[in-house]
Amino acid sequence: MDIKEKFRNMNVEKRAYINGKYVESKSRKTIEKYSSFNGMDLSGISACGKDDVEDTVKCAKNAFELGIWRKKTPEEKKNIMLKFADMLECCREELAILDTIETSRAYQNYYYDSIPKAIGAIRYFAEGIDKYYDSAIPPREDAFATVTRCPLGVVGIITPWNDPMVVAAWKFAPALLMGNSVIIKPAEQSSLSMIRVAEIASEAGIPKGVFNVLPGFGEEAGKALALHKEVQGIFFTGSSEVGRQIVQYSGMSNMKKVGLECGGKSPFIVSKNCGDLKEAAKVLAENVFYNQGQICSAPSRVIIEKLVRDEFMELLKKESEKFVPGNPYEIRNNVGCIVSKNQYEKVKTYIELAKRNGAIIYQAKTVKEKPINACCIQPTIISGVENSDKVARDEIFGPVVVLLEAENIQEAIKMANDTPYGLSGAIFTDDLNEAYYAAKGIESGLVHINSYGEDDNMAPFGGFKESGLGKDKSLWAFDEYSQQKTVWMKFKMPSGMRG
Ligand code: ADP
Repeated sequence: MDIKEKFRNMNVEKRAYINGKYVESKSRKTIEKYSSFNGMDLSGISACGKDDVEDTVKCAKNAFELGIWRKKTPEEKKNIMLKFADMLECCREELAILDTIETSRAYQNYYYDSIPKAIGAIRYFAEGIDKYYDSAIPPREDAFATVTRCPLGVVGIITPWNDPMVVAAWKFAPALLMGNSVIIKPAEQSSLSMIRVAEIASEAGIPKGVFNVLPGFGEEAGKALALHKEVQGIFFTGSSEVGRQIVQYSGMSNMKKVGLECGGKSPFIVSKNCGDLKEAAKVLAENVFYNQGQICSAPSRVIIEKLVRDEFMELLKKESEKFVPGNPYEIRNNVGCIVSKNQYEKVKTYIELAKRNGAIIYQAKTVKEKPINACCIQPTIISGVENSDKVARDEIFGPVVVLLEAENIQEAIKMANDTPYGLSGAIFTDDLNEAYYAAKGIESGLVHINSYGEDDNMAPFGGFKESGLGKDKSLWAFDEYSQQKTVWMKFKMPSGMRG
């Protein structure tokens, strides 16, 4: 299939979607950018600013107050969201093409993994909304109190480029189902799919003003949204650095509710009691080299007991060959390119730094056919470094894994926790006691035992420490996009009933 040709023949919308229609940004400014795979000019997406945020918030607030969406019954909302999911399914190829062209990630990933995952998340939340009950306090003789979840109002959602549809769906689906009006600010590297999704949302029956998409730069559109006093919640996925700013914006404006899913440097512990080192190496490679390592929960720090280190290293080298980058438009390729030249340079700088500091660098040998200037990096394993070295501490967000050695599991857990992050983690071992205590000991929102990255919409996802605040996914996500209200009802026994 010629993806480039198909993209050229598509009527690609690049404007913001506000109050049920496409509009230019007020300043007419656009985002200038080029494909990291083949240099294709991808400029022209509206770069919205403060004025556009102002207008959109007004419309979103108006829609919330009118209540056409908010006041629908859970079942009505469910049915519209299920229709929305079905309509997205019909556009699966189109959405996968938009994301592939913009991010140069493999089309295969989008078509078979990301887009279906996003649609699955919408269906999961839609099916949940009429089954998730609010609560009442324990009964009293003369009083009764309910605790109900109320929508926040206008909710801002700021998303990253590494998985544009999935991360957005994790947030907008529960936010909408709770009755909020949403304004999504997609990453400047990946806006086209969400711009198209907004139109599909309207066609599915989500009223105007309830689902808005404002493309633009983080420092402008994102910041203005997070600082806006009429926005009652801001939900963000991206770097810890920007996450910290989002918390500040909340404090500087109206103390809006904040949800953050930030960076990670997740530990992957391999014990000498691991009975299947080959499986451990396979799982590691799948999770750290997939999408050129551009995954916030990637297990990018392997901590291994000395006894099995050399054997594991050889197995990992072999597995890394399965994730070499190639032409993202070729359906058979499982790995494409790094999203942008900037990100590519950043990853290369880390590899160079490690080299200069005397680390041992191994890079996969297999090379797939790709244009000379494509921003691709071979799967890279860095060893001979300490946990305190920059490459072992910083989130690199590329196909780079650092291999660290530990004397024993106790030391491995200590090293695992010696990081500001706490998004995910794993231990591979056949010793049940070791697995249990490691899972308890690793300070992260998610710990895998003898697995990694296997998840389900039912399981919450979110970090400890500087990896974030709050949770995506699971029924608990409904709590994130709502606030609890207690209604205390006091009763007097009717006079005729006394005695
Ligand atoms: P990355 O480093 O992965 O690109 P960022 O944290 O920079 O991640 O970006 C994630 C999202 O946050 C993007 O949509 C981006 O536009 C937005 N963003 C960046 N800076 C800010 C900011 N100062 N305020 C609000 N949003 C921002």
